[in-house]
Amino acid sequence: MGLFGDDKYCVICGSKSGFLGGLFWYDLADGSHLCSSCRDKCTPGELKFEAMTADAVKANIAFAAENKRKAVQEFRATRQLKAGAYRGRDCIEIDENHGWFKDMTHNNGWVYDLNDIYTFHMHLVTRRPQADETAKGIDWSNYQFDELPKYTEGDFLTEAKLKIYLMDNALGVTKVEVDLVPSWNPDDSELRGGYECAHEFYEFMRNFRNNQKMRLRRQ
Ligand SMILES: [Zn+2]
Repeated sequence: MGLFGDDKYCVICGSKSGFLGGLFWYDLADGSHLCSSCRDKCTPGELKFEAMTADAVKANIAFAAENKRKAVQEFRATRQLKAGAYRGRDCIEIDENHGWFKDMTHNNGWVYDLNDIYTFHMHLVTRRPQADETAKGIDWSNYQFDELPKYTEGDFLTEAKLKIYLMDNALGVTKVEVDLVPSWNPDDSELRGGYECAHEFYEFMRNFRNNQKMRLRRQ
């Protein structure tokens, strides 16, 4: 070991730690190392690299690549749920034939399994209007479903997300957050579009689950 005996080599791409490659490194269970750009080739969920061997990381990267391949080559949207300006913005795409969905509001392209969803809800973030700002009153009475949250009339709504929670899955993703409104402090039509998108998803999932139950009963 010389003066630079601390150099690490990425077990995947072979790059060497140093001035350029030394941003962030992961130590693996078998004493090998992983660079941060190869970490980005892995599945998006949290990974315990200190407990993974180089072979386990390679298998994970292959799995992630397969998901991305499916996203491009096999995923065919049979439904596009839109929200915003006014409902021209693609938020969720569903491939009913495969039972898959994608979050289109984040440019990550992962394909998730509809059967992995255990619950979802709409999440709102609001802000109290300042004294010199005009409060917005919004009538949501036409957009109610069981899991729709309420917020105090007069507050500003600054964020609306559809939070979809997933059971254990190979991607390691436990929560998908779909941005239903594209802008901060959205106008009424953007919000209404967001609600309609969430409602469509709610209706779709209700039908999807009923069909799954019928299919199971027939087996
Ligand atoms: Zn690397």
